[in-house]
Amino acid sequence: MRILWLFLAAAVAAATPVAEDAGERAYAHVVALAGAAPRPAGTEAERRGVDYVAARLREMGYRVEVVAFPFPYFETLKVGLEVTSPVRIALNPRALVYSPSTEGVLAAPLVFGALGRPDDFRAVDVQGRVALVQRGEITFLEKVENAARAGARAVVVYNHEPGPLVGTLTRRSSVPAVTISREEGLRLRDLLAQGPVLVSLVVDTRLETRTSHNVVATLAGRDGGRVLLGAHVDSVEGSPGANDNASGVGAALEAARLLRAQPPPWTVEVVAFGAEELGLFGSEAYARSERVRGLRAMLNLDMVGVGPRLLVGNTGSDRRVVDAALDAARRLGVRLEARRMGASDHVPFERAGVPAAMLHRPDDPNYHSPEDTPDKVRPDLLDPVVRLAAAVLRSPSVVAGPGTLQPTAFR
Ligand SMILES: [Zn+2]
Repeated sequence: MRILWLFLAAAVAAATPVAEDAGERAYAHVVALAGAAPRPAGTEAERRGVDYVAARLREMGYRVEVVAFPFPYFETLKVGLEVTSPVRIALNPRALVYSPSTEGVLAAPLVFGALGRPDDFRAVDVQGRVALVQRGEITFLEKVENAARAGARAVVVYNHEPGPLVGTLTRRSSVPAVTISREEGLRLRDLLAQGPVLVSLVVDTRLETRTSHNVVATLAGRDGGRVLLGAHVDSVEGSPGANDNASGVGAALEAARLLRAQPPPWTVEVVAFGAEELGLFGSEAYARSERVRGLRAMLNLDMVGVGPRLLVGNTGSDRRVVDAALDAARRLGVRLEARRMGASDHVPFERAGVPAAMLHRPDDPNYHSPEDTPDKVRPDLLDPVVRLAAAVLRSPSVVAGPGTLQPTAFR
């Protein structure tokens, strides 16, 4: 009897392979990826994440390539900002990504430059000074370059909403630039309203070309057509990146397992992107390569393990993947809302003419902070994302229709 029961149990397990604890399995990947150090792009830690994902996908029977690409690496070695007169106040700045360094300590008067528009600097004299500007309306780079053209030696941008501000200039700026919180910014404005304010600023950063990697894993189908499931493996500096985005990678790995168990007739690619946080460099490298030709659809998973709401969306007007996700969610009984969403790895695919969308949970209080740790991520929130992602890649509608790449949209 015992042997018979074991046999039956094995048969049942084979028939319903892994769907039961997809959320728990995805969560185990989150712990493995985000349990230790942050994984900034171009570091050993990011590479360990890449190797982990490649190994899991190979075990599942995918054909795995690890594809290297160059990107502009950035690291903050030291950053400090202090009011030295009329009182002494130590602030908590962060270097804007791609800020150059100060030459040692920069001591100068602080001037308020409103939103940092060209007109704002016509109204005040920032020559040789440090400009304080508010976030909003134009990009960080535009603010910093406007200030530099007006003669500022450095720029401090303060947030216009509560919470930390991790900003990027997208490329190296002419003068050093840091961000501070809204509270600190308003405090500086109060001081400026009373009289002259002197600050000392230190920014020490490293900017160099480095190599990151995409893991490209293929499950070849019988029929034509190829669809892609992606998630970025890197984190920001100083954050373990459990929800952002070990959660997306963990969910993608378990969706890959479901797809391997019950594959669609078309080819499935599962891709872990490197270097997302500094500027979508991994997805950009893929979307600019020959690999993008013939790709019918792309689904991106970014931050899917924290927060009650689950959203699907993209930046363009193509509804193919969004509608497939909404249909699959209805079939599976998963609550899903459509929203316009950019700022992640689906965007370079949209630009290349590939129907693409992202699944995302928007309510994470620990976004980009040291508190984004595995204990905040919930297996029961990962579970529906795993099942939904697999269902979208199996949907006939995502491979239906004519070739999706217009020749003019390529590159
Ligand atoms: Zn992310």
